Amino acid sequence: MDYIKKSPWICVYNAGSCNGCDLEVLALLNPKYDIERFGCELKASPRHADILLVTGIGSKQNQKRLKLVYEQMASKKKVIAVGSCAISGGPFREGWVFTEPVDRIIPVDMYVPGCPPRPEAIIDALIKVLEELDGDKKDKPKQTRRRSKKAKK
Ligand code: SF4
Repeated sequence: MDYIKKSPWICVYNAGSCNGCDLEVLALLNPKYDIERFGCELKASPRHADILLVTGIGSKQNQKRLKLVYEQMASKKKVIAVGSCAISGGPFREGWVFTEPVDRIIPVDMYVPGCPPRPEAIIDALIKVLEELDGDKKDKPKQTRRRSKKAKK
């Protein structure tokens, strides 16, 4: 995994899930999956996070908060929709509580299907998003530093 240059911090937002997906996300921290080996850490504050994992249907009560959480993240951010609920409403699609999928509320970069998805699938999405984050960094033109007159002397 030497191509992963960044150690991203991750924030998880439960936008109305049954907690099944959240348990799979938490499993990423146990010794079997151990996402800390990629430098990943779960953070409570979105202000410290590079990647947002969203679980649940994005219920009406959650939409405003979800937008706020997204806006609070720093500019280079990626969003992963975890589970069928976040992607399309899953088993709650026909229910009164479902209004629209998460990608209609905030931009989503990666989708992890499943009810709930397996931790391996979430790790796969994380690695792909990490590659994108590294790619974004490479695309950015290098900043050239001008030496001050004092430094030239
Ligand atoms: S996708 Fe399945 S496990 Fe995940 S929140 Fe929805 S119902 Fe629960």
